[in-house]
Amino acid sequence: MKFKRVTDLLRTEAADQTVEVRGWVRTRRGNKQIAFIAVNDGSVIHSIQVVAEMAKFPEELIKRVTTGACIRATGKLVASQGSGQAVEIQAETIEILGDADESYPLQKKGHTLEFLREIAHLRPRTNTFGAVFRLRHHMAFAIHQYFNDRGFYYLHSPIITGSDAEGAGEMFQVTTLDLQHLPKLPDGSINFKEDFFGKSTNLTVSGQLEGELAATALGNIYTFGPTFRAENSNTPRHLAEFWMIEPEMAFYDIRDNQDLAEDFLKYLVRYALEHGRDDIEFLAKTYDDQLIPRLQMVVDHPFERLTYTTAIEILKNSGKKFEFPVNWGTDLQKEHENFLVDHFKRPVILTDYPKDIKAFYMKVNEDGKTVRAMDILFPWIGEIIGGSQREERLEVLQNRMREMHVPESELWWYLDTRKFGTCVHAGFGLGFERLMLFVTGMTNIRDVIPFPRTPKNAEF
Ligand code: ATP
Ligand code: MN
Repeated sequence: MKFKRVTDLLRTEAADQTVEVRGWVRTRRGNKQIAFIAVNDGSVIHSIQVVAEMAKFPEELIKRVTTGACIRATGKLVASQGSGQAVEIQAETIEILGDADESYPLQKKGHTLEFLREIAHLRPRTNTFGAVFRLRHHMAFAIHQYFNDRGFYYLHSPIITGSDAEGAGEMFQVTTLDLQHLPKLPDGSINFKEDFFGKSTNLTVSGQLEGELAATALGNIYTFGPTFRAENSNTPRHLAEFWMIEPEMAFYDIRDNQDLAEDFLKYLVRYALEHGRDDIEFLAKTYDDQLIPRLQMVVDHPFERLTYTTAIEILKNSGKKFEFPVNWGTDLQKEHENFLVDHFKRPVILTDYPKDIKAFYMKVNEDGKTVRAMDILFPWIGEIIGGSQREERLEVLQNRMREMHVPESELWWYLDTRKFGTCVHAGFGLGFERLMLFVTGMTNIRDVIPFPRTPKNAEF
């Protein structure tokens, strides 16, 4: 007999047919006559109830049906007597596939998320992390669906990179050199010619520059891969290893870029509400009753679009005392971003930042002072997307690189796009885990990725 997943069983009409379930015991309750066993197999937030008449089974066997044990049960699928579920299984056979002894750490409900982080290898077995990781899957799938439906090609940008132009100081080095015996040049510096790639290499901080190479050939592309930043920021919104989605579009200007980003985010949130409804409802009920209204708010309202300069005026005129003073030319802090989102009661797209606080590749505006950057700010999260129209003019780009001390010699291949058939283009980066924070309502980024990497933490 083929076993069915719990999600299918729970949607099956009770017609007295015999079924089989395989999964992990969440709880066992009951009395001398009868045992109620909740079995979860991860296919859905809900467990299925297996009802065992004690007289039918050896006592020893039922004793081994403990929280965490893996079992196989067969029996009739019948309409449930109890409330809370439509159907249940009247057990005919029960087999223990894997015992769980009493040291199983997920005995009782209500473990803190901090504690669960310490047992990250087992936390997928909780309702919370089942919900989070199923939603993570739905979002990853929706991202590919969205772009595929719109003719974007999925580009695999490299994970090991030979340039550190973008992430100076925040990159993880990749080497096969023996750290105890480093080959040195006469001047005492390390001889990277002897390293695996014959040069110094790092883990990528972004696939954007490679994405631009592909966009100026294939039209519209997106990357979706792991990204690494050795920034020592122990915040609830930063990981050392996170996933990023970076679409890059030929012939898109900054407006087209904003339209795409807004449509994309709305699509993803709508998709989550449709395909992950049970899990979202569970998370809302358990952690945050504002979760669904907040998701709905993103879907229902057009995002507020304004320039950095206007935002600075609003912040200055607010009369609010911020911890960090507001000045034209300095980067916005979390408190400023939060104020703006609260002020408009919807996501905010800020554009045209001062060029000195943004990357070298962003297109310089006519004023010579600002660049065509765009950051999208979300409730609580702050920046969820960072993007820009790219500087397509070779000379302007070279000037910017000189100004910002980005060596041309390292990025000669990037500059070639501007030498050969350059065109207006734009793109952005969405932090996948920031999206997951928003969609799940979790408040710590360590709780939306299966195995978080943060400073001093890479256990699992
Ligand atoms: P922040 O100011 O929040 O550190 P950033 O300006 O460094 O962000 P970008 O370089 O623009 O971010 O990266 C694009 C997107 O990647 C961000 O909008 C954010 O969603 C995400 N992101 C950036 N750094 C991290 C990180 N350390 N962990 C998780 N996501 C990140
Ligand atoms: Mn950062």
